[in-house]
Amino acid sequence: QFITIEGSEGGGKTTNLELMKTLLEDAGIPYVVTREPGGTELAEQLRELLLACRDEPVTPQAELLLMFAARSQHVENFIKPELAKGNWVISDRFTDATFAYQGGGRKLSWQLIEELELIAIDGFKPNLTLLLDLDPNIGLGRAAQRGEFDRFEQEEIEFFNRVRSAYLRRMQEDELRFMLVDASQSLEDVQTSITKQFNAFLEQ
Ligand code: C5P
Ligand code: MG
Repeated sequence: QFITIEGSEGGGKTTNLELMKTLLEDAGIPYVVTREPGGTELAEQLRELLLACRDEPVTPQAELLLMFAARSQHVENFIKPELAKGNWVISDRFTDATFAYQGGGRKLSWQLIEELELIAIDGFKPNLTLLLDLDPNIGLGRAAQRGEFDRFEQEEIEFFNRVRSAYLRRMQEDELRFMLVDASQSLEDVQTSITKQFNAFLEQ
């Protein structure tokens, strides 16, 4: 199975990805972990370029196309081969992030992104997506404590409000794929909720 974890800054993706790993281990399921943009040699290089570029404005269109270039490499050269070996794959972000950041955040057309999703990865989709949803005011406060900021994390609050809405729109368009968790709760409550829902998924 292919599982993704999504949400805007400060939602606890990293911590909760660790929890999912533990739950898979407890269930005796072999898995690998990967991330986007990234996950292959070329895709990691594209990630570096995308996150580090500061002296030249990056057009939303360039950003969108590079995200899908990286994703095409990731799907064909990493995700599909791992699934074929019998491993589950957990990815820290995937196509929903493009709808959220380049669609919601950068205001690129939803239909354009859907078309690129077909062109770049033939509409390849996760079996399950954990969405860590929270008010960006809370999330950015948490992210700030972490101290390092990439190019995206310097956007204003309205950008992240649009990112959040776009994630929720993606969920409404494909309810069965999503596991929604209110990430504004205490870490303990978030983890209880994930454990319950994820174990239910593993048992089905
Ligand atoms: O997951 P992480 O926060 O490490 O991702 C790195 C950066 O790339 C984030 O700031 C995220 O917002 C951004 N990103 C993006 N569009 C994507 C995927 C990630 O803007 N499709
Ligand atoms: Mg981040």
